[in-house]
Amino acid sequence: MYFVEVILPLSLSKTFTYRVSEAEYSYIKKGMRIAVPFGKSKIYTALAIELHQNEPTLYEAKEIHQILDETPVVTAIQIAHWQWIASYYMCAIGDVYRGAMPSAFLLETETVISQAKDIFIDEAMLSDEEFLIFDALQHQSSLKVQDIISILGKKTVFPVLQKMIDKNILTLEEEVVELYTPKLIRYVRLSAKYDSNEGLSDLLEKLKSAKKQKDIVLSFFQLKAVDKKPISVKQLVEKSGTSSSIIKALVEKGIFEEYHIQEDRVSFDQNLKEKNLQLSPAQQNAFDGITKSFTEKEVCLLHGVTSSGKTEIYIKLIEEYIKEGKQVLFLLPEIALTTQLVGRLTSFFGNQVAVFHSKYTNNERVEVWKQVLDNSPKAKIVIGARSALFLPFQNLGLVIIDEEHEQTFKQHDPAPRYHARDSAIVLANSFKAKVLLGSATPSLETYFNATNDKFGLVEISERYGNVMMPEIELVDLKDKYFRKRMKGHCSDTLLEQMAEALALGEQIILFQNRRGYSPVLECITCGHVPECPQCDVSLTYHKNKNQLRCHYCGYSMAKPTNCHNCSSVDLTTKGFGTEQIEMEIKELFPEKKVGRMDQDTTRGKYGYEKIIDSFKNREIDILVGTQMLAKGLDFDNVSLVGIMNADNMLYHPDFRAFERSFQMMTQVSGRAGRSEKRGKVIIQTYNPNHNTIQQVTNNDYFGMYKEQLYDRHIFKYPPYYRLVKITLKHRDFDKLKEGSMWLYQVMSQNLDLPVLGPEEPAISRIRNEYIRTILIKIPTNKPLGSTKKTIQKILNSFEAVPQYRPIKVVANVDFY
Ligand code: ADP
Ligand code: ZN
Ligand code: ZN
Repeated sequence: MYFVEVILPLSLSKTFTYRVSEAEYSYIKKGMRIAVPFGKSKIYTALAIELHQNEPTLYEAKEIHQILDETPVVTAIQIAHWQWIASYYMCAIGDVYRGAMPSAFLLETETVISQAKDIFIDEAMLSDEEFLIFDALQHQSSLKVQDIISILGKKTVFPVLQKMIDKNILTLEEEVVELYTPKLIRYVRLSAKYDSNEGLSDLLEKLKSAKKQKDIVLSFFQLKAVDKKPISVKQLVEKSGTSSSIIKALVEKGIFEEYHIQEDRVSFDQNLKEKNLQLSPAQQNAFDGITKSFTEKEVCLLHGVTSSGKTEIYIKLIEEYIKEGKQVLFLLPEIALTTQLVGRLTSFFGNQVAVFHSKYTNNERVEVWKQVLDNSPKAKIVIGARSALFLPFQNLGLVIIDEEHEQTFKQHDPAPRYHARDSAIVLANSFKAKVLLGSATPSLETYFNATNDKFGLVEISERYGNVMMPEIELVDLKDKYFRKRMKGHCSDTLLEQMAEALALGEQIILFQNRRGYSPVLECITCGHVPECPQCDVSLTYHKNKNQLRCHYCGYSMAKPTNCHNCSSVDLTTKGFGTEQIEMEIKELFPEKKVGRMDQDTTRGKYGYEKIIDSFKNREIDILVGTQMLAKGLDFDNVSLVGIMNADNMLYHPDFRAFERSFQMMTQVSGRAGRSEKRGKVIIQTYNPNHNTIQQVTNNDYFGMYKEQLYDRHIFKYPPYYRLVKITLKHRDFDKLKEGSMWLYQVMSQNLDLPVLGPEEPAISRIRNEYIRTILIKIPTNKPLGSTKKTIQKILNSFEAVPQYRPIKVVANVDFY
């Protein structure tokens, strides 16, 4: 008898054994997908990981339905890596498999299929089965795979569907495809012939009889006199009160020239390639340092201040590995940053660059998956957010992790709750590949490893092109409020600097780490604050929609006119968010264009790019935003950055609060003055003497590091201890309380380790589920594997207690 061992895409830790024929046995290879029945009537796409002849003892092996691949789509290295992730992050191998594969690879009975939009389908080209499916979709917008099984009258439908998905006829329903082509703003300038005083009078003479054209030329000069910014067609139309057809006529006459900022940016990048990218001496030094470090160590940290030109060093390094035919993985903390980077990399490496992330459609992801698997020249360099780590690399030579300190590299929910940086280091190891971590503000863990000889360390302390680090000025809010020097949330200092920058045509970033209008609505009479009925958290006021919203579950309600507790109509708002800042600034600078970048304005596949593009195109003068602004964006015309309130970051109840505040403030400040002129940063705070704020002001990363490291040591936190957080959730408060106490007691009796809790977290109920947490601290010098085994055993016995079984338990290893 012959068997295949498979992983199912379900939250199950075990692998399962299915029966195969002798022919199938010799055909199947590890890493091929196989459709198998599971449960009463479901079919799943499983992954073959072993072939054997050992009949299972606990159940009777079912037969497989069908082999789905001709060659493996998953490599042996991947399978081993996924098993490592499952074991290290204490989750089911099925969770890793499911999280790793593009969902179009994982058809199952419940998958909902619909017809791809905007694509012409030649019915004559379809096979009979394909036609039946296609035809059914003309009457119904979507079908479950289950329905298709009955339409075709057979169980083995996955290959037909897969083919139709590959041919772009079908898509999985959950994806919403949004198309966006970067907007090209049309600008005009005067052609060189007329760009002088005599030229102008010539011109006006020439246009004597064309009044409207003359008006436009005059408006152009008026605009130019107040502002050195590029003048867009739109602006000119508004100013002159004419139409763009008349501007077109002037372009045709050769008086104006039309150009696009977007295009200019691209051609700049192309120049860069022609010039063959010259590293500055400091960059070259760092490059040499990295290559040297790679001869001794697997991982190197590039600690370079903001705007030191880390990207250019990455490019040089990638070039070396590409020359040797290796694949390169480039991980970014934020999908939205890919557009910028792809532009920079493709201008250098042409079409060898591929992008992979969750906002890509399934079909796009499948395509990149296959390219990487085939070691295709089109995907030598893969840029992606953390999930790109799961691709089927063949010949990985280098992994670059930019902004390695970003917490978005850690997946929170659902499982696998992996850290992409740490998992990438493990993956690289199986290829004997090198890893470069880059950051201006490395995580404490990484800097600790780099200074303890585990990683190499290379530092750059100067910005590229002799640009100075921004000058940071602290504004004491207490004093400003006392002396009535505030307008809304802006100090006079900030407003003066803003006016100055705007007068020079420069752009401004204002940072407020909170979205919404103001976090809470409070009753002046009784102090009541409206809370989410499903979560233990106050609702956030969104002025623009006149709504109160829950940032945890999305619940919303219209803003009440009177207090739900005492009926008083005296309601006031407390605290403030980006939306309120935006409103204030619009009132203070009515003639300027104000934009906002936060989770509310960046929804959709390209929401973020749209805002970045209009800021780059200088359609926005002042950009107000949350920490999204702190992630490695490169703007060349920002001279001023204002941090509206540094304190709410500092006082987060989190052992990483000071480290994060330092990183966030330093990164946001780093957006200022990235070209010749020295940038300026204004930090408004009630605590100008706080150590962290002083460290930001003095650009003292090392001071922050030493101070925080000391605290981490004293209070038993990373990098000295690894943390495993156990979260328990249930709708029944008492049952949860009892269950978490049980678990806590067993843990602290059986683990010779600090176990803390069970604690009610700051937000102790979400979507009607109560929450308790238990924290286990494992010293880094203690063997981790055996400790985790004990923890797992305890969790299993917890689950075996009937009354606790309904309690959801989640382990988060190295939680962030
Ligand atoms: P970082 O990632 O370290 O903050 P960037 O890589 O974004 O810095 O570089 C900052 C700016 O300097 C970018 O606009 C980049 O194009 C420019 N730059 C850096 N190094 C070079 C170089 N060697 N040649 C030309 N331009 C460079
Ligand atoms: Zn809620
Ligand atoms: Zn009240």
